[in-house]
This record gives sequence, C-alpha cells and structure tokens, in this order.
Amino acid sequence: MRVLFVTTEAVPYAKTGGLADVAGAIPKALRRRHCDVRLILPYFRPVREKLADQVLDTGIRFTVPVGSHTPTAAILSTTLPDADVPVYFVANADYFDREDLYGTPTGDYPDNCERFVFFSRAVVQATLALDWVPDVFHCNDWQTSLVPLYLKTLYAHAAPARSRSLLTIHNLAYQGVFAAEAFALTGLGKEHFAIDGLEFYGKTNLLKGGLVHADVLSTVSSSYAKEIQTAEFGCGLEGVLSERAADLHGILNGIDYSVWDPATDPLIPANYTPADTSGKLACKRALQKHGGLPLSDAPLIGLISRLADQKGLDLIADIMDELMALDVQFVLLGTGDEKYHKLFAKLGAQYPTKFSANIMFDNALAHGIEAGADLFLMPSHYEPCGLNQLYSLRYGAVPVVRKTGGLADTITNCTPSSMGKGTANGFSFQSYSPRALLVTIVRALKLYSHPRHWQRLRRTGMEQDWSWDRSAGAYLALYAALLARGA
Ligand code: ADP
Repeated sequence: MRVLFVTTEAVPYAKTGGLADVAGAIPKALRRRHCDVRLILPYFRPVREKLADQVLDTGIRFTVPVGSHTPTAAILSTTLPDADVPVYFVANADYFDREDLYGTPTGDYPDNCERFVFFSRAVVQATLALDWVPDVFHCNDWQTSLVPLYLKTLYAHAAPARSRSLLTIHNLAYQGVFAAEAFALTGLGKEHFAIDGLEFYGKTNLLKGGLVHADVLSTVSSSYAKEIQTAEFGCGLEGVLSERAADLHGILNGIDYSVWDPATDPLIPANYTPADTSGKLACKRALQKHGGLPLSDAPLIGLISRLADQKGLDLIADIMDELMALDVQFVLLGTGDEKYHKLFAKLGAQYPTKFSANIMFDNALAHGIEAGADLFLMPSHYEPCGLNQLYSLRYGAVPVVRKTGGLADTITNCTPSSMGKGTANGFSFQSYSPRALLVTIVRALKLYSHPRHWQRLRRTGMEQDWSWDRSAGAYLALYAALLARGA
C-alpha cells in the first residue's frame, strides 16, 4: 500500500507543536509494518538550514496555478533519519524561505492562504511528476486540507483521482479562515464557495473544504472526536463534523521512544529506568541549577507548552501567588502569545527562587524538564491528544491534567480505588477553574509527601506503553477500510 503523508511540519525538519512529532513518527511506524509510506512537506527555511547539503534536487520543476500567478515548485528529496522513508520537499523561496513557518509572535503571515493553496496543489502535481501516485493521501490540518478537494476536482482526470484521502485533525481551532476574496486563489469552481463547501460565515475556510470532501476523517483521540461534534469544542464546525460522524475516527497519538525515553535519552544528564530511578535526582539537580533555583528536595513542577489560550495558562496565572506560597519549585518552558511572554517573565522576576520562566523554544531543555520534574502540569481548556503528558509518564514527571480530549483518554486520576487497582498514573480534574487546579495540585503534593505511594504511582506511568505501534496498526486498518470501500 502506498501512502503519502502530507504535512507542514515533521521532526527532525521543522516543528512548532505536536503535529511535528506525530509526522516524524507515524511514517517510521508504518514503514516497520511494510507500508510504502513517503512524506511531503514545504522546504521551510529551518529545513534548509538543517539539511544544507544533505538534500537531493530531483530536478523536477513545475508551475502551480495560484489565483492569477503561476509560481514554480521545485521538488527536493531526502530520507528520514534511521528509517527507510523517502521525504519530498516542495521548495519555493518566496513562500517558504522565511524566519518562521506560519507567522511571527505578532501575527500570521498575511499570504498564508496563498502559501498553502500553493503547497496543496503542488503536492498533487508532485505525485504525477514523480510518477508515484499514492493509494492514500494522508493529509493533516488546514494547511493541507484542499488536497482531498483537488483530487476530486481539478485533478479528477489525472492518475491521483484513483487515490483516496484521509484528513487528520490535530487541532480544530486552527482552520485557515481567510477573506471571501481569497477563495479565488484556490482555482476551484464557484460552486465550492457554498455552505456545503469552503464558505464559512461569508469567509473562506480551508479546513472546512477538507472536512466535507476527504473520504475519511480522523482526529487524535476518541474523546476529542466526540467533543468536536459539540458546540463547546466544535469551533463552529460541529454541524459539519456531526454530519460526518460515521466517517470520523479517533486514533490516539503515540510517542517515539527512540527519542523520548529516560533510559537512553542523550539530552539528559543521567539516564534512569522504572526499576532504578536514581538518575532522576541528578536530572532534578541539573534542572534546578539551570533555573537558578535552590538545590532543595521540594517537589519540582514542570510545564512545557505553546503559550496559547488553549493550554489553560490563565488558570495557572490565577493561582500563582497561592502556588508560590507552598513548598514547591516550578520550571516553565514555552513560547507563543506575547501576553503570556510578559506575564510569565514578570512572575519569574517576582519569584526568582521558586519559579523559572524560560520563554523560548528549546528542545534539550524540554527533555531536561521532563527528566527533572516531579510533576507536570497540563490544565488545558481542550487538548486533542497531548504529547507532553505521555512523555511525562515515561519520564516519571507525574501529570496533573484537566480531564479533556486526549488527557481524559490517557490519564487515570489517582483515587483510593484506582490506586488500589494499580491503574492510577496521574491526577485530573474536570471543572475549568483555578480552584479545581489548585486543589488538584495540593492533592498531588500530599501524595508526594508519602514516598512509597508516590513511587508506586510514578512507576505505573513509567511502565505504560504509549508507543506508535498501536496507533500505526489503527491507521493501517483505516487505510485498508478506505481502499476496500473505494473499490
Ligand atoms: P501542541 O501540539 O498543542 O503544541 P502537544 O503536547 O501535543 O501540544 O505537543 C507539544 C510538543 O511541542 C511537545 O513535543 C513539546 O515538548 C514541544 N514543545 C512545545 N513548546 C516547546 C518549547 N517552548 N520548547 C521545546 N519544545 C516545546
């Protein structure tokens, strides 16, 4: 089976969030199951800088109609490290050779519609030019969600028309909504700017086009698949998603243990395992030193996040004074909205011996926090899957989460009953309120003061298997069902 994984970010090339981890890992897991999977993504500047001379120019060039322009796409290629997975890049310096992927901290690039219309059409054209037509185009998020529609319209005469499409929603809040006039960039017939197409309250919504036209849809947890059919989490698309409920599947993300495992992680000061966690103390000390915090035995709380409203950071801001009055330390790592940069920088200055605010993107520090922290906070308002809680489980940083989406599907709240059964692996709360978060942290700290119970809880999480193999099997089954249906 031939699968083209269409994405705008993938580890190790370009990353702003969890999609990159997923896109770097699924193809490897599919390949291990003998699927002929390939990856295609834009040749962003960070990719160019990383790959330098390791990338091959296929020599393939073609023009792509985008509105009234016909920019040229060049196709470059490489292979995913440690895996026999071909990777193609769509290069166009005007669109992709920029400082960031989608925009700067002050806002999105104004021509994002044009950039990703170009990318989506170029992907379909690239498969023809490469003479490698996939059975399944596995698309991801709004940036690639016109691909299913192009297959059924502008390229319906070409070989890819036989292909089927899957669109995976990683975060429904990001839909690629642009002015009505932007629709002309797509090259699609006017009939597609309609209520059962890309039109969304008078604007152009790229994701909606994919949700309507992809042969099958998935999202990254079962709970989120249900939540997005409701007005609270559907971001205005709950109607479209409910109509397609029979085609909407929830497949939980996994984690790549070749990158995220404290037993082998080269980015942390000492390695450790569930049976011997002694190295974790060295990691905690290193993290305390990094954050300028006293080398005490106070429980250390970690948080790594895009600084966006979704992540429940307002709850943290609200309880910060009460939290800092407790015997705890807190290390935060994140970038995103300017308002959170300012807020956390200010709190860092206010509590220099208790709170370390690292306003940056730093992969090594992310590993260091997972390894050094005793608890990990994720009080998200919504969370399609969430990866950090899964890393935290493996690294023995006990997750404290809000019960939503993938967090609800992966974290079993610590109660006398779940402790008794040996299923507890963290702490969760339901109500989106600062009080509920604080009460839950206090509950966790109380257990922390009973080392025997704490170690038991921590070990349960460290020993769980959240690897990609489980999810890869589910994706393969979905592809097979899709192809069987198509035939
Ligand atoms: P989302 O996809 O919503 O951003 P996830 O929890 O699914 O959230 O994935 C986030 C990923 O991005 C994790 O791998 C996390 O470690 C990483 N990450 C987020 N912010 C930073 C940062 N500032 N520095 C390093 N890694 C980060």
